Amino acid sequence: MLSKLAESALPYTAGEQPRGKTYIKLNTNENPYPPSPLVQAALDGFDTDRLRRYPDPACTELRDALAVREGVRRENIFVGNGSDEVLAFAFAALFDPGAPVLFADVTYSFYPVYCRLFGLTARIVPLRRDFTLHREGYANGGGIVIANPNAPTGVYEDVSSFIGASVPVIVDEAYIDFSGKPSLAAAAAKSKNAVVVKTFSKSFALAGARCGYAVANEEIIDGLFRIKDSFNSYTVNAVTQAAALAALRDTAYFAQRVQQVTATRETLWRGLQNKGYACLPSQANFVLASVPDGDARGTYLRLKENGVLVRFFDAPRLRDKLRITVGTPEETDALLRLL
Ligand code: PMP
Repeated sequence: MLSKLAESALPYTAGEQPRGKTYIKLNTNENPYPPSPLVQAALDGFDTDRLRRYPDPACTELRDALAVREGVRRENIFVGNGSDEVLAFAFAALFDPGAPVLFADVTYSFYPVYCRLFGLTARIVPLRRDFTLHREGYANGGGIVIANPNAPTGVYEDVSSFIGASVPVIVDEAYIDFSGKPSLAAAAAKSKNAVVVKTFSKSFALAGARCGYAVANEEIIDGLFRIKDSFNSYTVNAVTQAAALAALRDTAYFAQRVQQVTATRETLWRGLQNKGYACLPSQANFVLASVPDGDARGTYLRLKENGVLVRFFDAPRLRDKLRITVGTPEETDALLRLL
């Protein structure tokens, strides 16, 4: 009794979110620290009478704050229910069936899912042996999607040359705040073809609130609104809008937490290397490590038995590797001791 669309969909498999047993949870790149105390204060002070009414469908206040953060105008910002939703809307708003959408073999595994859902053709451009982009492979497509830093590798590259390309380009900057490198958001807003997608889930520690956003020129932002308003006017609830706004206000807390995570990333990276786990250089809040005996699944299972969750991808080029999220220093020590 299902539509062809539902029957043919190949849904994304999210990392485990276990209930009951408490794990050291290093499998979904969540922030190990709580969000800013200003978020707690905003939620404590949230007048539930506001829940009688629908939220602002345009997220105006939040977009104004994001415009300041990104050095653009409100008209250059679109907010959605997590960056997954923003990415989905961007695929729908920018790409047409017929001309292929180009992305890497090792990248965020939601991209092929959106292609399938929207009837788009995906063309895979394998990363080089060192897991950097094979740039010459990105000619002659209908669109390009790049995660930078990439997931699940953590590798950062300067992808500014894709801005100004002749086809639409989505740059997924979910992890950019951990890289210390400049965002392409402001450049995207000035460009004809590029949209930068960001999230509150990682650096702002608000994965549970579900909030992400896009920065692009006005025409593209208008396209994202057209898709959203053809689907659900109120994708971002009022509580989330208040929480995200509060998190944005606490720039000092944000900088301190990002600094802590990136410092621990170096401890994790060095600790893994010392144990014979070859690691890619990471500019994100996780490290992709090759398991010395190649049995990443076995190591994943043994870690799980011992109360530590990491991410294993049963996929080409990844079966000998584990993606390990940067936790607190204590969690990182516990993981390294177990290994
Ligand atoms: N992009 C990348 C590269 C990610 O790893 C994730 C997290 N799974 C997302 C986007 C989506 O994050 P969210 O929907 O929580 O904003």
